[in-house]
Amino acid sequence: MGIRQVEVYHVTLKYREPFRIAAGVSTEANNVVVKLVTDYGVIGWGESSPSKRVTGETAETVGRTLDKIGPKLIRMCPLRIEQDVELMDTIVEGNPAAKAAVDMALHDVLGKTVGKPLFMLIGGYRTEVMTDVTLGIKSAKEMAGDAAKAVRKGFRALKVKLGTDPAEDVERVRAVREAAGDDVQIRVDANQGWTVKQAIDVLNKIEKFKIQFAEQPVSAEDIKGLREVRRNSPVPIMADESVHSPRDALRLIRAEAVDFINIKLMKCGGILNGRKIAEVAEAAGVPCMVGCMSESEIGIAAAAHLAAGVKNIQYADLDSDLLLKDRLVKKGGASVKDSARTFSKGCGLGVEEIDAQLLGKPLRIYK
Ligand code: MG
Repeated sequence: MGIRQVEVYHVTLKYREPFRIAAGVSTEANNVVVKLVTDYGVIGWGESSPSKRVTGETAETVGRTLDKIGPKLIRMCPLRIEQDVELMDTIVEGNPAAKAAVDMALHDVLGKTVGKPLFMLIGGYRTEVMTDVTLGIKSAKEMAGDAAKAVRKGFRALKVKLGTDPAEDVERVRAVREAAGDDVQIRVDANQGWTVKQAIDVLNKIEKFKIQFAEQPVSAEDIKGLREVRRNSPVPIMADESVHSPRDALRLIRAEAVDFINIKLMKCGGILNGRKIAEVAEAAGVPCMVGCMSESEIGIAAAAHLAAGVKNIQYADLDSDLLLKDRLVKKGGASVKDSARTFSKGCGLGVEEIDAQLLGKPLRIYK
């Protein structure tokens, strides 16, 4: 068995409305889709949704990285994923979002070859995944409106973006809790927007609104600060931007800086490394979440399979495809109803039909 052809596509997907977090505003996603064609006819799909802010990557750097990796993948066995990932790491350091697209496509091939949905091959722990939906930063009143709308749609968990102004942040959480009622889980994410002092202050003030956890309150590099916040916060702390690899996870756990870890395929390079982070964290009693960047249904399906397969991945923030107006996948993937992501009967990632017009022609073909 061997990889016969690697196709690379550039896709631009529009958001339904401008999406604001502490670090800036997004209006469209510039993603890269990878299609692996094998010599026994099975095809695998993967997607890269690079974030310059988080890993320094863009659609252009992903393209350049795939220029180096693509030709070397030809004739590699798609089922020997550890070997394939090792090869990618030998060819080029870093660039996890580019490698994640290939890793996903390899896992898609694996599932289709075996004839099972991917999550059944990586642990098969649960058959559905409960996801939150994210509320981008707006005024407290507008965010309360968005929260009420999400709850009416059936969402049972909300992720509230914060991190611009501490006093306003407290009001945002108050307004969202009032609008959402008591039965909805609320988690917050400051995207590194607070100082240590601000974080401790805000988290002590919002504790009474029953906050499940707070993501990345302070700068990604400030591990001491993160520990300081954790020691003084009544709300448990989740690391996101601070953890890109199993090694990062180990370092933060040793520093006693985290209660939870947010795994993203775009930070760690794919499903294989995502599983490794979850395992390191499990050994330390640290549960994980799987999050997303701006992936379409392809990347979201991959992350949902990871979350379903692995016991220690107890939370999911997999909603980026819902925030996009453009729908790249016409059939299959992980659909969502009342916060629950479920899987189509399809094998591998379960992506059955891609919108040919949105996908366009391949930018590159390696064979
Ligand atoms: Mg985050």
